[in-house]
Amino acid sequence: MSGKSAEVIVIGAGTMGVAAVWALARRGVDVLALEQFQYYNKMASHGGHTRIFRHCYFEGERYVPWTIAADRLFSELQDRTGLELQVRAGCLDIGTPENGHARLAQATAIEHNLPYEILTGKEVNERYPGWNLPEDFEACLDPDGGVLRLENVFTAFRQELEAAGGRILENQKVLGWSADDDGVSVETADGTYTGKHLIITAGAWAGKVLSDLHLPLQVTRKPVMWFDVDDTAVFAPQNFPPFIIDCDIEHFYGLPAVAPDSLKMGIHSDMNVIDPDNFQREVQPEDMVPEFVEFVTTMLKGVHPRTVNTGMCMYTMTPDEDFIIDRHPQHDNVSIAAGFSGHGFKFATVIGEHLADLATDSSASTMPAFTVSRFAQ
Ligand SMILES: Cc1cc2nc3c(=O)[nH]c(=O)nc-3n(C[C@H](O)[C@H](O)[C@H](O)COP(=O)(O)OP(=O)(O)OC[C@H]3O[C@@H](n4cnc5c(N)ncnc54)[C@H](O)[C@@H]3O)c2cc1C
Repeated sequence: MSGKSAEVIVIGAGTMGVAAVWALARRGVDVLALEQFQYYNKMASHGGHTRIFRHCYFEGERYVPWTIAADRLFSELQDRTGLELQVRAGCLDIGTPENGHARLAQATAIEHNLPYEILTGKEVNERYPGWNLPEDFEACLDPDGGVLRLENVFTAFRQELEAAGGRILENQKVLGWSADDDGVSVETADGTYTGKHLIITAGAWAGKVLSDLHLPLQVTRKPVMWFDVDDTAVFAPQNFPPFIIDCDIEHFYGLPAVAPDSLKMGIHSDMNVIDPDNFQREVQPEDMVPEFVEFVTTMLKGVHPRTVNTGMCMYTMTPDEDFIIDRHPQHDNVSIAAGFSGHGFKFATVIGEHLADLATDSSASTMPAFTVSRFAQ
């Protein structure tokens, strides 16, 4: 097929859409994605240069096999393309003794026989000089975690998907879609695209593109801050692994200074619900909330509560913070991947493969935790 038709059409060429095109094209499937903005854009949920990957998974042990499979696929992609996709710096899950955050991560390591190390706050401070944790804090170190470099990931995906004949059309906002037993069709201002199967990976716009399903998705505004530090070397990946910390101040995440950037941080748990088409995209002075100031001045060393760069991103939250990856309840030839609740990127490769399975194999099924039907209960 060619022009405005393809075997599989993908709505949204962001993280999961590009990964699906990559996986399908490499299987020899004719696939075309329609993206409302440009490839690797700053308007969606894949901005901000870097993402954490990790295997010990406090969100639930059911994710662990996918963290491992996704890591392997990223490594293979890195080897084939020669681009640095993964910076294997480890990852720290840090909590108080009371909230047990580190122990949740540890439990999944034990269950899946993953390498890990439990450190006290004191030991973290001794090993990583950028930290100033209370001595009784607990941390679970995942030595195989690290940082994904987004621009290189998107470049690598593009190289392989284009070499395999996959197509991505930019500046093609999808205005509507339909599906029946004969196939699928998708409308943009340029006309109608037709295919046999549709994959909807619209990120923060999933609720709009799938308005028929009334999914309980909430899009939240997520400022990203790069902080002014005294010595960038202290916050380089080998000295300062990415981290997630659940403490009395807030639930923060942070990434080391991966050149050319500085230390990056954001608040994971705030819920500032917005409309992705109409919200304050510029980071404001008031986004440097008192919690940030308290955190960097008490729990870190050599970090100033002022930014050297900022960015804006969005989470698309489900009520249980588990993903939605499923067939459309009314259309077997439509698959959905949405609601990644701020922790989806590290799974992109494996989710791309899973979406390729759903599009090409009618017997392929999804994880019970990820079904659309769970919201009807
Ligand atoms: C600040 C921040 C930090 C994060 N940190 C981590 C982390 O450390 N580790 C991790 O694993 N995950 C992390 N995540 C989460 C991860 O980035 C997301 O889960 C993932 O990128 C979501 O992928 P997606 O494909 O659903 O959305 P996107 O990548 O946003 O892609 C959706 C695409 O669909 C397009 N689209 C929407 N509607 C239409 C339409 N009508 N027509 C055409 N195109 C359309 C959009 O323009 C967009 O390009 C973070 C997210 C944020 C915001």
